[in-house]
Amino acid sequence: MTTIQPYLRLAGLEPLIVRPETNFVNIGERTNVTGSKKFARLVRDNKYEEALSVARQQVENGAQILDVNMDDAMLDGVVAMTTYLNLLQSEPDIAKIPIMIDSSKFEIIEAGLKCVQGKCIVNSISMKEGEEKFIREANICKLFGAAVVVMAFDEKGQADTLERRVDICTRAYKILTEQVGFDPQDIIFDPNIFAIATGLEEHNNYAVDFIEATRIIKQRMPLAKISGGVSNLSFSFRGNDHVREAMHSVFLFHAIKAGMDMGIVNAGQLVVYDEIEPGLKQLCEDVIFNRNNDNNEATERLIQFAETVKAKGKEIIRDEAWRNDTVEARLTHSLINGITDYIELDTEEARVKYPRPLDVIEGPLMDGMNVVGDLFGAGKMFLPQVVKSARVMKKSVAWLTPYIEEEKRNNPEALQGSVAKVLLATVKGDVHDIGKNIVGVVLGCNGYDIIDLGVMVPADKILDTAIKENVDIVGLSGLITPSLDEMVHVAHEMKRRGMTQPLLIGGATTSRQHTAVKIAQQYDNGVVYVLDASRSVTVAGSLLNKDQKEKFLSDTAVEYEKLRDDFNKKRTIKQYLTYEQAQKNKVAIDWSTYTPVKPGVIGTKVLEDIDLSVLRGYIDWGPFFIAWELGGRFPQLLEDEVIGKEATKLYNDANALLDQLIKEKWLTAKGVVGFWPANSDGGDTVIVVAGGNEIRLESLRQQMKKTAGQPNFSLADFIMPAHEGKTDYIGAFSVTVEGIEEHIKAFESKHDDYNKIMLQALADRFAEASAEYLHERVRKEFWGYAPEEKLGTEELIKETYTGIRPAPGYPACPDHTEKYKLFELLGGEAVTGIHLTESLAMYPAASVCGWYFAHPKSQYFGVGKIKPDQVAAYAEKKDMPLEEITRWLRPILEEEA
Ligand code: SAH
Repeated sequence: MTTIQPYLRLAGLEPLIVRPETNFVNIGERTNVTGSKKFARLVRDNKYEEALSVARQQVENGAQILDVNMDDAMLDGVVAMTTYLNLLQSEPDIAKIPIMIDSSKFEIIEAGLKCVQGKCIVNSISMKEGEEKFIREANICKLFGAAVVVMAFDEKGQADTLERRVDICTRAYKILTEQVGFDPQDIIFDPNIFAIATGLEEHNNYAVDFIEATRIIKQRMPLAKISGGVSNLSFSFRGNDHVREAMHSVFLFHAIKAGMDMGIVNAGQLVVYDEIEPGLKQLCEDVIFNRNNDNNEATERLIQFAETVKAKGKEIIRDEAWRNDTVEARLTHSLINGITDYIELDTEEARVKYPRPLDVIEGPLMDGMNVVGDLFGAGKMFLPQVVKSARVMKKSVAWLTPYIEEEKRNNPEALQGSVAKVLLATVKGDVHDIGKNIVGVVLGCNGYDIIDLGVMVPADKILDTAIKENVDIVGLSGLITPSLDEMVHVAHEMKRRGMTQPLLIGGATTSRQHTAVKIAQQYDNGVVYVLDASRSVTVAGSLLNKDQKEKFLSDTAVEYEKLRDDFNKKRTIKQYLTYEQAQKNKVAIDWSTYTPVKPGVIGTKVLEDIDLSVLRGYIDWGPFFIAWELGGRFPQLLEDEVIGKEATKLYNDANALLDQLIKEKWLTAKGVVGFWPANSDGGDTVIVVAGGNEIRLESLRQQMKKTAGQPNFSLADFIMPAHEGKTDYIGAFSVTVEGIEEHIKAFESKHDDYNKIMLQALADRFAEASAEYLHERVRKEFWGYAPEEKLGTEELIKETYTGIRPAPGYPACPDHTEKYKLFELLGGEAVTGIHLTESLAMYPAASVCGWYFAHPKSQYFGVGKIKPDQVAAYAEKKDMPLEEITRWLRPILEEEA
C-alpha cells in the first residue's frame, strides 16, 4: 500500500506539490491593489480584462502561486475579489496555478474561498483578535480545504523579536493541529518580514530575526511551511530597484537556506545571487545580518551606494518554473526570452515527440518566432532581443538539421518546402555588412530562408545565384558612395536578364531619393528602398503576399514618381556658380598673421599595438546603439522609459564582451600617422613634399550659389598658399582593427549572430576610438599644435578641438580615389595591412583614414553637387580620363537639367 506523504499539496487546474526537495516557490505579488498602483487603478476602473493580463504576466514570469489582494478603501473588496477570481477561473493559462487569497478582512477571504477551484491558500489568519476568532476562521478555511498562512501576530501585536516570532507560531501550531485538526503541512507561517535599513536602530535586527525564527520553527515543526512578503524588506529603498532586487536576492539566499519555503515576490524581478556585484552584495549582507552596523554604519554605506547607482544592468532571474511546462511552451519561452540554456534539450524532446523533425520547426519553433515577430512589429521588442531570439532558433534548427538531412535521403519528395527565399549581398567593392547581417537575422526570424552571399559580391554572382536558387527577393546593401552606382548596375542587369524578383535596396549610403531617382527606373519589377531591419519585415511581407504585392508596388511607384518630380523641380531651382566664380569665393583667411606649427614628426610614425583598454575610454557609444536600432543620446538612453531596459542590457553585454576581448587580446589596433610640408597652389591643389617627391592632392569645391558672405568651401583653402611665403603642413592617418575573423567564425559556428554582430559593432567602435585617440595625440604631441589641450570624452566626441580629420569619400572630400595618395604617403598596405577594394572601401571593415588639418578655421562641410565644368578641370588636374572620374563622382554630379 502506498502512503500519502505529508506534503503541502496545492492546486489550480494543475497540482503544485511542495516536497522537501522543492525549490523556493514564487508567489506572484502584482495582483495586489495595495502593492501595485497599476493593478489598483485597473480594478477601480472596472478594467478587469486588463487586470487579468497582470495575472498572466506574473504567470509568464514564473509565478507558481498567485496572490490576489483587493484591500482598498475605495473598493468593495467582496465584490472585487468575487468578480476577479471568477474571471480568473475561466483563463486556463492563469487558473492553472493555485491562488493565494490575500486580505486582512475575513469576509473578503470567505468571498474568495467561494470562487476558487483546486486547493488554495488563505493569507492570512492570526490571533490578533484572540483565540476564539482565530479558531473560527481556521475552521472555515479547513472546511473549504484551504491551506492557511498564519501571521505571527497575537493580542499584543505583531511579533517583532525572535522570541515572539517563535512563541506565537508555536502557540498557533498547537491550536491548529490539536484543536482545529489542521494537517501540519497545510500550515504556513509568516514570521513577518519588516523593513530594514530605515535608519532606526530597532529595525536593524529584523531580517536576522526572521531568518533565525525560520530556522527554529522549521526545527520544531518540520512539516509547517514558512512564507513572507519579501518586498517589505527593502521598503526604505523605494525607487531604487537595483538595490531592492539585490537586497531581496541576498535575503532570500539566506532565508531559503534557513528553511523558508515560499515568498511573495515580484516574479521575474529577482537578480541572481551570484550575479550581484560583489560590493553591493557585501553591503546587503551587512544590513541583512546587521553586521558592521554600529551607529547604522552599514545602513549609511548602503544608502550611499544606492545614491551612486545609475541604471546599472540587472539580469532577471530566470525563474525555473517554466521548465515544468509543455515542451512547446518551453520552446516558445526560450525563443521569446532568448534563452539558449535548454534549447537543445527541449528540441530533442520535441523531435522525439513529433512525427518528423521538420514538424518541430514548422510547429512550435515557428509559432514562437511568430510571437517574436509580432512583438517586434508592435514595437514591444527591440532589435537586440530579436537577434537573441534568432540565436535560439538557429541553435534549435542546427540540432534538427542532421535528422532533416537523413529524412531527405530517405524520402526526398516529402520535403519540398515552400518557404520564401531572400538573397542578400553587399555589392562589389564594398565590405560593410553589419546592417545586412541584421536584416538577414530579422528576416530569418520571420520565417524566410536567407541566402547571404557576404560582401564584395559582383553583380553576376548575385544574379546567377538568384536564378539558380529561384529566390523570391533580392536585397542589396552598401555603405560607401561607389556602391550606389553598383546598385544601379545590378538593377540594370536584372532587367537585361529578364528577371522578375523585386529588388530591395538598403545600407548607409542609400536613400529613398536615390533609389527613386537612380535605381527604380532601371528595373520594372519592383525596386524598394528599405530604411532599416524592422522595415524589411513589412516590405518583404507585402512583396510576398499575392494580394498585397501589386498594390504595394504601385503605391511605391507613385511615391517614387513624386520623389523624382520633386527632385527635378529642386534641381531646376538650385543655382550654381561657374567653377571659376566658385574659386574666387574661397574661404578668406588672413595668412599674414598665421605661423604654421612645424610638426614634431616629419614623415610617418607607426603605432603597432594601441592599448585597447585605453581606447575603450574613447569609444563613442552613440553609433553603437544606432547600429542596433536603439537611437538616442548616450548615456541618457540607458534610462529611457521605452528603450532604457533593453539598451542597458545591450550595453552590459557589450561591456562583458569588451572585458573578455581585451583580456584575451582578440583584437589589435594598429595605426600610422604622418606629417609633411605642404602649401596650396592658391587654387584647389595642395602640394605635399614627401621624401623629396611632390604629391599633388586635388580637392573639390562647393559650387552652389551661396548667400552673401558665405564662402564656397574647398579643403585646400585651409592650407597656406605657397605665395604667402611660409611653409605649412598637412597630416594623414589610417587605423585598423585586426583579428576579428577568427572570432566571427567561432560565433558563426555556434549560430550566435548576437555576438557576431556585437563583435563587428565593437571592432568598428575601436577603429573610430583609435582615430579619436590618435587625433588627440597628434594635436598634443606628434604635430603638437595644441599641447595644452585638455578635453573630456564628450568634448572629444563632439570634436570641439582645433583642426579636423576629413575622411576621403566623406562630404568635404567625396572623391574616393584620393585615398590612393593618402595610402601612398603613409606607406600603403604594407604598413597597416589595410587593403583598398576596387570601390576603394577599406578592408578590414573596421578601418578609418583621413587627412589632418591644423588651421583653426578648418571645418567640415559638404561639397554638395558640382557641375561638369569643375569635373572637367578636375580630370585634367588628376590626369584621369573624364569618363573614369565621372564614374567616381557620379553621386555628386549635377547633370544639366
Ligand atoms: N565619434 C564618431 C566619429 C565618426 S564620424 C564615431 O565614433 O563613429 C566623424 C568623422 O567623420 C570625422 O572625424 C571625419 O573623419 C569624418 N567626417 C565627418 N564629416 C565629414 C565631412 N563633412 N567631410 C569629411 N569627413 C567628415
